[in-house]
Amino acid sequence: MPTIRATSSLGAYPIHCGEGALFRAAPLIAGLGKSTGTFILSSPNVWRHWGRAIAKALPNGNAHRPILFDDAESSKRLATVEGIARQLVHAGADRHAILIAVGGGVVGDVAGFTAASYLRGVRLVHIPTTVVAQVDSAIGGKTGVDLPEGKNLVGAFYPPKLVVSDPVFLRTLPGREYRSGLYEVIKYGVIADVPLFNYLERRMDAIVRRDPTALARITARSTAIKARIVSADERESGLRQILNFGHTLGHALETATNYRRFRHGEAVGWGMIAATLLAVARGRLAEGDAARIIRLVASVGPLPRLDTVRAPSLRPILASDKKSRGGRVRWVLPQRVGKMEWGIEVPWRTVARAFVELPFVAKAAETHR
Ligand code: NAD
Repeated sequence: MPTIRATSSLGAYPIHCGEGALFRAAPLIAGLGKSTGTFILSSPNVWRHWGRAIAKALPNGNAHRPILFDDAESSKRLATVEGIARQLVHAGADRHAILIAVGGGVVGDVAGFTAASYLRGVRLVHIPTTVVAQVDSAIGGKTGVDLPEGKNLVGAFYPPKLVVSDPVFLRTLPGREYRSGLYEVIKYGVIADVPLFNYLERRMDAIVRRDPTALARITARSTAIKARIVSADERESGLRQILNFGHTLGHALETATNYRRFRHGEAVGWGMIAATLLAVARGRLAEGDAARIIRLVASVGPLPRLDTVRAPSLRPILASDKKSRGGRVRWVLPQRVGKMEWGIEVPWRTVARAFVELPFVAKAAETHR
C-alpha cells in the first residue's frame, strides 16, 4: 500500500492510499501524538453510507457523535464554519484536539478552514471519500468557503497532518460524481504523466466500471502527482499552475450556469478540450496528441450539453478569473502529452472560435472511440 509524502511550509504529511487504508487510520491518528479528543466532521449523506465503517475503524474517536453538516456547495459558507466551531466549543474541543474530515471536497474544504481557524489552528486529518477529494482537494492545503460573490473567496493554506485515502469509499459514489472525478485524473495524465495517460487510454472501460485494481492504480498515481506538484510550489507561484489545465474555461462554465448544470469535473472536461483546441490553434500542440487528449476526455462518457451558453457571455467571466491579469486571460495549455505551458494569452477570437467548435469536436471524438 503506497505511502506518499507531501511537503509544505507547515511541515510534511503522509498520504496513505490503497484498499484497506481505512483500517490503518486508528494507529496512524494515534501516531500523531497526544490529543484531548478526535472530532469527526462529515455530512449526513456520507455518514449514512460510511458512518458504521468509520465507527468501526476509529473505535476511540468520537465517531458515535460526529458533527454533521450539509455538503451541498451552497453550504460551503462562513455560516457553516461558525456552526461547526460552536459545536466544537460545546463538545469541549481544545487546542490539542484533532479534527477528522470524512467526505468529499466540500466537507474537506469546510472542515479544513474550520481546523485552520478554530482556536487559531488545530490538527487536521483528511479521510477523502470522492475521487475529487482523494486525488485533489485533500492534498495541497487549500481550504476555504464561498461567498455569494464567488467560489473559494475566503480561505487559508492549511495542510493536514495526515491523509487516509481508501478507494473502497468510491464504491458508493453516484455514477455521475464518480465519472466527474475521472476528468481530474485525466488532467494528471495530460499535465505530468505519459504512462498514466497511456494506461487511461487502455483501461478506461474498466475504470468506468470501477474495477478495483485499476481504481487503486489511478488514484495512487494521481495522488503522487498532486503531492509532487504542491510540494514543489505550495503557493502556486509557478509549477502548481499546471493543475489549472481545463479549469479556466471550466470555472467560467460553472459560473455562467450558476453551478447547476455541470459537476466541477465535467466543466473541466469541456475546459480540457477547449484548451487543447487553443494549443493546436497556436501551433504549439501536434494534431495527433490533441486527438488523443480529446478522445480520452470523450471516453468517460458524454458531457452535459453546452446548449444555451454563448461565448460572449463567458468573456467577462474569463476576464475576472483568478489567474487573469488586468482582464487578460492566462491559459494553461498542453505542448504535448505530459508537458504543459502556462500564463499564455490567446486572442479572444481564437477562444470564441474554439468554444463554438467544442460540441462538434466532442461528438466526433465520441463516435471515433
Ligand atoms: P462533493 O464534496 O460536493 O460531494 C459530492 C456528493 O457526493 C455529495 O452529495 C456527497 O454527499 C456525496 N458523497 C461523498 N462521498 C460519498 C461516498 N463515498 N458515497 C456516496 N456519496 C458520497 O464533491 P467533490 O467533487 O468531492 O468536491 C467538490 C468541492 O471540492 C468543491 O467545492 C470544490 O471547490 C472543492 N475542491 C477543492 C480543492 C482544494 O484544493 N481544496 C480541489 C478541488 C475541488
